[in-house]
Amino acid sequence: MTKGAPLIEHFKTPPFEWTCGHCSVKSVITPEHYHSGYTRLAVGETALGETALVYTAMACPNPDCRELSLAVRLADYKASLGHAYPIGTAGEAIRDWVLLPDAGEGDGGP
Ligand SMILES: [Zn+2]
Repeated sequence: MTKGAPLIEHFKTPPFEWTCGHCSVKSVITPEHYHSGYTRLAVGETALGETALVYTAMACPNPDCRELSLAVRLADYKASLGHAYPIGTAGEAIRDWVLLPDAGEGDGGP
């Protein structure tokens, strides 16, 4: 049986149910365990256009685990001029990575 990548969704609104990729325990994620955001990559126009880095971190609420799960996404960056100063929103995904749990992490604990 192949292990699926742990589900780490960007820009979700807690609370929601989630199964930890480290301990496989299902729990309810509350705002204090979830952080998601993005930053514009201010390097000018690239071959990929204007880009942003989207990031989401989650801490497992299971007191026996408490491991960090981390995912990042390279996304198109679209600026919006609807406000007094430009406000960006991260657009379509270019690439997605799950950094933690590490893909090479074993089935056992530390
Ligand atoms: Zn866990």
